[in-house]
Amino acid sequence: MDTSQIIHKTAGDLRVRPNLADYEAECHRFSWDAVSHELTGLPPGIVNIAWHAVDRHANRGEGERIAFRFLAAGMPCRDVTYTELCAQTNRFCNVLRALGIGKGERLFILAGRIPELYVGLLGALKNGTVVSPLFSAFGPEPIATRINLGAGTVLLTTDALYARKVAKWRDRMPSLKHVLLVAEDGGQTSEPGTLDLVSLLRNAPDACDLTPTTAEDMALLHFTSGTTGTPKGAVHVHGAVATHWATGKYALDLHASDIYWCTADPGWVTGTSYGTIAPLLHGVTSIVDREEFDAERWYRVLRDEGVSVWYTAPTAIRMLMKAGPEVARRYALPRLRFIASVGEPLNPEAVWWSKEVLGLPIHDNWWQTETGGIMIANTPAFDIKPGSMGRPLPGVEAAIVQRGEDGSVSIINAPDKQGELALKQGWPSMFRGYLNNEERYRKSFSGEWYLTGDLARRDADGYYWFVGRADDVIKSAGHLIGPFEVESALMEHPAVAEAGVIGKPDPVVGEMVKAFVSLNPGFEPSDKLRLELLGHARTRLGAAVAPKEIAFLELLPRTRSGKIMRRLLKARELGLPEGDTSTLEGGT
Ligand code: ATP
Ligand code: MG
Repeated sequence: MDTSQIIHKTAGDLRVRPNLADYEAECHRFSWDAVSHELTGLPPGIVNIAWHAVDRHANRGEGERIAFRFLAAGMPCRDVTYTELCAQTNRFCNVLRALGIGKGERLFILAGRIPELYVGLLGALKNGTVVSPLFSAFGPEPIATRINLGAGTVLLTTDALYARKVAKWRDRMPSLKHVLLVAEDGGQTSEPGTLDLVSLLRNAPDACDLTPTTAEDMALLHFTSGTTGTPKGAVHVHGAVATHWATGKYALDLHASDIYWCTADPGWVTGTSYGTIAPLLHGVTSIVDREEFDAERWYRVLRDEGVSVWYTAPTAIRMLMKAGPEVARRYALPRLRFIASVGEPLNPEAVWWSKEVLGLPIHDNWWQTETGGIMIANTPAFDIKPGSMGRPLPGVEAAIVQRGEDGSVSIINAPDKQGELALKQGWPSMFRGYLNNEERYRKSFSGEWYLTGDLARRDADGYYWFVGRADDVIKSAGHLIGPFEVESALMEHPAVAEAGVIGKPDPVVGEMVKAFVSLNPGFEPSDKLRLELLGHARTRLGAAVAPKEIAFLELLPRTRSGKIMRRLLKARELGLPEGDTSTLEGGT
């Protein structure tokens, strides 16, 4: 590898001593048992995500720290301390108890990023009630489907969302016993068949005994992003808290003094694991912004709140790049010290852009709804190879494998060989099932390995490189082509803001590579530009891998968690049914 393509870490890059300084030594020393000794305070055998996240701090004299700072346009910010969060979550737990809702029952949350979402989520966990947060932008159909699949008994939502998306369809959700409403104007709700949550909370006691939950009790139900098909409901347990803690420490480098901003909505697993649980476990102050993406607003939040650790997604970074470096340069961000990203492959171009424009590289990391937490990451402890997802975190064993006909797997040890990314079972936040789909769950495992469905390769230094989802990989004239490689090459061209690449059936080569691109401001679609991009890709990738066709799109279809939906590009190209579009951004 050309070492000029590596971002070397120097001591001067680090403004605080990183939690992970010596990667090899920590991997060697690490044990999940030792993590459980860090998360103490409950009787032996009892594990509860919310208690560890909130009460642990309140009980040991750190309750005056701000847990959340809630931001919303046109409103003053609202700070909630750990002590206040402890009392509010106790109240919510008591509200559920008064309604007769117990352990194992399911609470669905359909709300924007309002304080009650977080209070409800954590308060329900204290009651042993399982929580499933949904994107507030979902339409009636995806809401009802998920509540029915999860047999939801309680729904927490706002008056406006209830009126628009639930009220008329309520008889289609027979399991739903109670609906708890929050008035969007801050007043009181009086919708028939619902309860006003704010009054219930006001009248509930602010102390409660924790419902005893164990590491194996179900805690969260998260639906996957639906990038490759119908979203699957992944079941997670309270024991996942150990992974949330360890990964917050190693991959996000959280220190108690940090101001941290995770831009993900809890409707996506990232917004729960890292927008809620992990930062609280480390006693940091989390920024929660209710508004949607806006480049100026985001830079303002980073600057005005003094964000030190920022966890975002490639789609947001590409949008900031599209807004132009001059916008970024208007905002000085002296407090920002660590940037991480997840959700999609992070094009090397974006890492270099960030280093140049924001003064810091982005640390890409990889995980899935099913893994419950970050598995592979670029950490402060080692150099970054832009385009790589980094290395497995301490406590995580990864491998590149090949599936045999009989379902067995063999490990590919040779470096740089492409295969399926697999993880050895045993990390605490591994999903424990796909709701109502036992067979699909079983098929995700072979012996001691969990098979991720993503293709990757590992280089001689142990860095993992994402190739593509098994479903998205293109087979063309005997080559296996990962869309990511082609998209990244296109993105190097100054005209290209985003690219999505698919394989289109072709009688001669099997599949032909076709790219869809959206352009940066100042560029217009034209045949001349198309030829230029085709030429650029051919020079960068060679004729066998470069796209043969390029189409211009205003915007690429993406999920609400920001992932490019290649299956939709393909279905539209081939005139096939679009399949499940419940998570499509802009759809309802
Ligand atoms: P579905 O399973 O319903 O198709 P999804 O896989 O997109 O949706 P998530 O669990 O939200 O749902 O996303 C996990 C997937 O996102 C990973 O399996 C991988 O394909 C992709 N991904 C996440 N992080 C990265 C990353 N850093 N680099 C490359 N791909 C990533
Ligand atoms: Mg998936």
